[in-house]
Amino acid sequence: MTDRTTAPLLEVQDLAKHFPVHSGLLARQTGAVKAVDGVSFTLGRGETLALVGESGCGKSTTGRLVLRLIEPTTGRVAIDGTDVTALSKQELRSLRRRMQIVFQDPFASLNPRMSIGDILAEPLLLHGICTKAAVGARVRELLAIVGLAAAYAERYPHEFSGGQRQRIGVARALATQPDLIVCDEPVSALDVSIQAQVVNLLQDLQARFRMSYLFIAHDLAVVRHIADRVAVMYLGRIVEIADKAVIYTAPKHPYTRALLAAAPVPRPGAKSDRMVLAGDVPSPMKPPPGCTFHTRCPFATDICKVESPVQRTFADGARVACHHVETLPAFEALAASADPVPVARRMAVLAEAGKARKAAA
Ligand code: SF4
Repeated sequence: MTDRTTAPLLEVQDLAKHFPVHSGLLARQTGAVKAVDGVSFTLGRGETLALVGESGCGKSTTGRLVLRLIEPTTGRVAIDGTDVTALSKQELRSLRRRMQIVFQDPFASLNPRMSIGDILAEPLLLHGICTKAAVGARVRELLAIVGLAAAYAERYPHEFSGGQRQRIGVARALATQPDLIVCDEPVSALDVSIQAQVVNLLQDLQARFRMSYLFIAHDLAVVRHIADRVAVMYLGRIVEIADKAVIYTAPKHPYTRALLAAAPVPRPGAKSDRMVLAGDVPSPMKPPPGCTFHTRCPFATDICKVESPVQRTFADGARVACHHVETLPAFEALAASADPVPVARRMAVLAEAGKARKAAA
């Protein structure tokens, strides 16, 4: 359950990461890839904020910046008021106990030469959470929490399915009893039915331990199932951030609308007059002037080409960076023309898996 009555757990202000580009014989810096370019948001305790957008929009880089796995170019990240970006390595190490990550690829993220027991024991011993004598019992407890048998501690990652490996990844993240977990596309490499199990597991764990999730994904069906709020990123910036219900029923930014309407139409002959994005995502090395979305936006006008829109807050709480929100066509027309079957089907699978799990419990 989200708690918005207290101060946010995580505060991100004007976060930016510009990767330098070097070229020529002398390898001089000739440019920069603006992977993240002025991102701000907050995350409450027990809340799930989804970061969505196309591949390369900067959402995974944002997740890594929040954990300071990479150093920001500018900006501030604070956990409970502590500025993560200003900590020494030693201070950061002790704070890392409170911030963990679950990676996209459950196989690549587990050391194939270590047993599952050793993989789970590592953070416990590293952070001094357990003595060597007590670590075995805690490893077994962690395996039980994610629905795996204690005997699996003796096995190695290659002996598990993708879904089981992701459960092990979740158990490893849980080992330090974190307040924040960055879930970086945690189910996108899994089959739909397995996705449902892992998403439901994450929800159960959140209810039990009151953790906050920064949930990075491109699958809007999964996001709709798990998120409390959604932030939509385009070319390194958040173009819209709002409560889930607002994003899915009254999206304002043309890019958000395009993402929601982008589900494939599965029925032959089904009507497809949906909003379709023209052109490719521009290079983050040379983002377009003005609104960076203007090269693909069907509603762009002259001002969009020269003036970058600032984020404005609307009556339903949505914050949107677009000059023309008030004059865009109503979303209902767009929603009615978009075929809802793919999203509905995915949601049904997730709901069914949740019911089956509760019935078995
Ligand atoms: Fe489209 Fe203009 Fe809005 Fe950008 S500011 S999203 S180009 S209408």
